[in-house]
Amino acid sequence: MHLNPYGEDAVKLAADLANRRPTTPAELAGRCREAGMVLERPVTPDDLVRVHAVLDAWEKVVDTGDEHERATLVNRMLAESAAYPRMTDHAGDWHLHYRDDRQPLGAVLFALISVGTALHLVGRGMHRLRRCAVGECAAIFADTSRTGRQRYCSPRCANRDAVRRHRASRTASGT
Ligand SMILES: [Zn+2]
Ligand SMILES: [Zn+2]
Repeated sequence: MHLNPYGEDAVKLAADLANRRPTTPAELAGRCREAGMVLERPVTPDDLVRVHAVLDAWEKVVDTGDEHERATLVNRMLAESAAYPRMTDHAGDWHLHYRDDRQPLGAVLFALISVGTALHLVGRGMHRLRRCAVGECAAIFADTSRTGRQRYCSPRCANRDAVRRHRASRTASGT
């Protein structure tokens, strides 16, 4: 996975891992590979612990409604995780890493999620990270829609809420 200018793949991976937390190092490795990451080292229990801590910090970013607070939290993650950017072609194409070489997956993900989230928020809009408007879903999603007004994690949740609102309005009007 390369960090594209809007951090889209990285922020989507963060949401995927937060919504369904990996429970074993093997699962974490598989999910990262599915997302297009090239893993350079074996994944260990330490990586899993590290990733859960990163996701805890990241969910605080998701759950604050204030954009300055949001920026402060992301800046803290960047300060702890990211190194100077450098060019690399370790996986074929040239791209940027915001981390030192030969890092364990936990540290790689920390930098990837921090930088990807920062790029997403400044590139697309500070409000474009939230939880699904269906209360019992509450899945996190990155809003990459054209309008920036996505309220649901999926078409399924949007339909579910539309049906519910329709029923509620029928009850209210007594029909
Ligand atoms: Zn790379
Ligand atoms: Zn949902």
